[in-house]
Amino acid sequence: MKGYAMLKIGEVGWIEKDRPKCGPTDAIIRPTALAPCTSDVHTVWEGALGDRHNMILGHEAVGVVDEVGNQVKDFKPGDKVIVPAITPDWDTEACQRGYPSQTGGACGGWKFSNFKDGVFADFFHVNLADNNLALIPEGMSQEAAVMIPDMLSTGFMGAENANIEIGSSVAVLGIGAVGLSGIAGAVLEGAGRIFAVGTRPISVEVAKKYGATDIISYKDGDTADQILEATDGEGVDAVIVSGGGPDILLDAFKMAKAGSTISNNNYFGKGQGDKDTIPIPRVDWAFGMGDKNLITGLCPGGRTRMERLADIVTYGRMDPELMATHTFKGFDKIGEALELMRDKPRDLIKPVVLLD
Ligand code: NDP
Ligand code: ZN
Repeated sequence: MKGYAMLKIGEVGWIEKDRPKCGPTDAIIRPTALAPCTSDVHTVWEGALGDRHNMILGHEAVGVVDEVGNQVKDFKPGDKVIVPAITPDWDTEACQRGYPSQTGGACGGWKFSNFKDGVFADFFHVNLADNNLALIPEGMSQEAAVMIPDMLSTGFMGAENANIEIGSSVAVLGIGAVGLSGIAGAVLEGAGRIFAVGTRPISVEVAKKYGATDIISYKDGDTADQILEATDGEGVDAVIVSGGGPDILLDAFKMAKAGSTISNNNYFGKGQGDKDTIPIPRVDWAFGMGDKNLITGLCPGGRTRMERLADIVTYGRMDPELMATHTFKGFDKIGEALELMRDKPRDLIKPVVLLD
């Protein structure tokens, strides 16, 4: 079979590999829609995971079940499924403690295009099919469904981790597909005022549709100062970080009130300085005593998560299709779509490649 791979840091291309083997609890999936991710960009062009050779890329897919192992009960060939970006080992100690995305080591629930071949392939392998697949609801478009595995799951996690109370204020730093989903999540969590920080006109438009009340451009001056000014110097109750460079936490801590939560979604693909660190501002963090809490997380995966997010879409709580700004037809277009994700033209939120 063929796959679109990271050949080495900075280099991508087509490769041939054997079709993956299906274990007793596994499934083999033929993708019908794929989406490249900013994380693929960090992995390939920033070498964020370290060197990977001939590893098939991609972790955002929906598809058709092609084969299941003999212990799989709930899925059969022909089923149309959502595949979470994160496919935890559900029988592990980290799962029992409530951290399924961290099974098998830090970020170990992230297998596709990290520890094993990803989804940009004719076929790909899913572990624990009964726990890691969800049926695509009748009538849901491919474009909407393929936003669920990572964009909705990560963006909503940003809002869930932010301890948003009814009526509290939230700033969302970065309004790509992750931050936009964070805005929709913040609305569902009951936020009052929501600041959206970004500049791409299409993102600004969708941010307003999803419920942002104030738009801030980080190009118009210090972001935190703009938000402090708009809130009479008080700042916000919660900050969701979903964009910006290695120094974005400087802004986040500066605009955060005492008692706030800074909920990070960012994949810090690059660090700062010789020792590769991420700076936290000493004074704006009140010398480490400011009751400003940083929470991090990797996208939640698994079947129940996908089913619940599918309900969010089915029952009209948000329309993820607004984020699918560029649609390509045919697997051969995946390289073009990935480069678009890297180059981020002003009219792009997220490209989708349809295979059927
Ligand atoms: P995008 O690149 O599409 O969006 C980034 C956003 O950040 C844009 O709105 C951009 O603005 C904005 N931005 C850039 N610089 C600044 C700044 N200085 N201050 C504030 N905002 C700024 O990214 P995605 O939405 O695809 O992904 C966001 C992050 O989430 C990435 O780091 C990605 O790797 C990570 N991620 C993490 C996951 C997890 O499990 N934790 C899963 C998936 C992704 P502009 O409008 O000007 O472009
Ligand atoms: Zn992704």
